[in-house]
Amino acid sequence: MRKIVLLAAVLVGALLPAVEAQAAQTATVVSPKRPLNVRAGAAVWTAQLRTLPHGSPVTIVCQVRGQLINQGSVRVTDQWDRLSDGSYVSDAWIRRPQQALPPCDTAPAAAAPAAGAAAGTTAGTVASGSTPLKARTGPAHGARLISALPDGTPLTLVCQVRGENIAGLVRTTPMWNRLPSGTYISDAYVRRGATPPACPAAAPPAAPVTAAPGEKWVSPLPGFSARPGFRTARNPNHIGVDIMAFTGTPIRAASAGTVVEVVCNIEAGRSCDQPGSASVRGCGWYVKLQHAGGISTLYCHMVRRAVVEPGQKVAAGQVIGYVGSSGNSSAPHLHYEVHVNAPPTGPHNAIDPLPFMRTHGAPIG
Ligand SMILES: [Zn+2]
Repeated sequence: MRKIVLLAAVLVGALLPAVEAQAAQTATVVSPKRPLNVRAGAAVWTAQLRTLPHGSPVTIVCQVRGQLINQGSVRVTDQWDRLSDGSYVSDAWIRRPQQALPPCDTAPAAAAPAAGAAAGTTAGTVASGSTPLKARTGPAHGARLISALPDGTPLTLVCQVRGENIAGLVRTTPMWNRLPSGTYISDAYVRRGATPPACPAAAPPAAPVTAAPGEKWVSPLPGFSARPGFRTARNPNHIGVDIMAFTGTPIRAASAGTVVEVVCNIEAGRSCDQPGSASVRGCGWYVKLQHAGGISTLYCHMVRRAVVEPGQKVAAGQVIGYVGSSGNSSAPHLHYEVHVNAPPTGPHNAIDPLPFMRTHGAPIG
């Protein structure tokens, strides 16, 4: 009998790769009362990216375990479906063919599986009871919330830093664990074996940051000014500032550097060559510049493709494109971001451009 059970297990194991290799599945949103929220992660406390009306077709790439949703119209489940653009919807509201969906290898709302943790890292598990453990941009509960990890989520712990003292279910400690994504979780809610090593001292610096000495900075839109708008209470995910201007106003490189990206960033089926709207996702036609000292700047919503090309060197003040309203924009403006310790650029290393530009002799607000 034991032999037969073992054989069955081997067979299931042998079949798994075939299931995982299965292509993306087309499914349908079943949410007759109100549109389904599409989110940045596998829980309702992650950012809402857009909504999908009842009956919308969706393409599901894979599934992750996340927040349990028990008022869906199709099923009660903690499975969330990752869509082809990397966003998530609860599987509780999705009618789909009965085949199993492949598990996602990695997901923003769930850390990398602990099994086979990379060399030099420590495996662990979230032990937070009914409240998911918050992963934040820094080692304190005041740092920005990036994702929430349900109880039992396997973890890969890269290293530890000292932060806010937290009394948790596992221990009371000021130590926070850095995850591979660069976010931090309190060690008070982590079940683990060995203590992860101390993180190297080079944490992202706080604004204002000093660029390479001698670099000249100028306003990207001389004569126009930005309102404070970096990570406001109303819009905590806004990692730049908006400078209102007129369509066609020249946008200038804020400092000398190299063009690293010229991209149309917009949701599928939309064009960057026409004005967007508040309901359109993406920053439209944009340019990213790399400057000395690990500083990177980003210029969004251009009216058309930039007039520079990737790899091109630009001088401070050189025209790189023209103001428009492409992408997630309801009026012509420049969305301007400054990142430190780049590349890469991301929410983790965006800083408020207003104090940065002021410090560098080119106030924009
Ligand atoms: Zn903006």
